[in-house]
Amino acid sequence: MISDGKVLNNIIATQSVHEKYGGVVPELASRAHQQHVVPVVHEALTDSGISKGELSAVAFTRGPGLMGSLLVGGSFAKSFAFALDLPLIEVNHMEAHILAHFIEDPKPSFPFICLTVSGGHTQLVLVRDYLDMEVIGETLDDAVGEAFDKTAKLLGLPYPGGPHLDKLAATGNPGAFVFPITSMRGLNYSFSGIKTAVLYFLRDRVQGDPGFIEKRLPDICASIQYTLIKMLLLKLMKASTTYGIDQIAIAGGVSANQGLRKALAGLSEKLGWQVFIPRLEYCTDNAAMIAMAGHFKYQKGIFCDLDVSPSAKMKIGDHGKNK
Ligand code: ATP
Ligand code: FE
Repeated sequence: MISDGKVLNNIIATQSVHEKYGGVVPELASRAHQQHVVPVVHEALTDSGISKGELSAVAFTRGPGLMGSLLVGGSFAKSFAFALDLPLIEVNHMEAHILAHFIEDPKPSFPFICLTVSGGHTQLVLVRDYLDMEVIGETLDDAVGEAFDKTAKLLGLPYPGGPHLDKLAATGNPGAFVFPITSMRGLNYSFSGIKTAVLYFLRDRVQGDPGFIEKRLPDICASIQYTLIKMLLLKLMKASTTYGIDQIAIAGGVSANQGLRKALAGLSEKLGWQVFIPRLEYCTDNAAMIAMAGHFKYQKGIFCDLDVSPSAKMKIGDHGKNK
């Protein structure tokens, strides 16, 4: 819930159902959405003390994401807006991750570069204005969040592995093992190689010493994390010099990573960057960032029709039409 750009609450329902499968099961995700959508909206209203009649608009995620989950959210938002005769606002999930920076101070000023690192995306985005963004680099295969989760799975850590790997890395030696740094053309990334590199590394080590993973877990985690962060930062530095911009933001679930946060703080001192990192609850998926993105569109009168369809691969910059 948001009022005049001020977040009133950020009610979310986390889905623990995926833990036992070691990854998100799309059908279970949409069923969980069905179960949670009405109670979550109800809680957001009662918690803020705002009645349905006082609402001005309804914002929802049109994409990108899993089709089943987008359909549930989209259908609910459309019915809700139709029933209450409210304007409907479609939001791009990846733009919303970036706009989470405008929930609280300090806020970046335009233009800035945002490194969006999440479970499904790794993008370098040139942000010229709230609704004027351009992807200047991205992963050509896996997202960095996937690399965290898949390597963590190889180590036997629970899903999602990113936060577990991060925690263990804090007590390990990042120089203990060396994994290859992959660099793609321009400002693009590739994170699929590290999975295989870690898989073969573990296979070889465990063959000679069955207890290897248990004994060296913090060191292995720290070394994987060091490699992933290094890859992220090399292109971020290149983007900063290419565009002559030293206002740097990070967004998405992986921006919760303590190693990345520390490394950015170091670069900020070394290179004179002004670095912006959202509070943890606004890094991973949350309701407030969608409301914030909706707020900026509301201010400009950018609404969508009730026949709008979800878009699993929605691109940044796709803003729908004026009503
Ligand atoms: P997308 O936004 O691309 O659709 P998503 O919404 O599933 O993907 P987010 O919720 O933004 O992704 O982020 C989830 C990802 O963030 C997971 O891969 C998770 O492991 C990772 N993550 C969360 N905390 C940390 C951390 N501390 N260190 C590393 N990775 C983390
Ligand atoms: Fe997300």
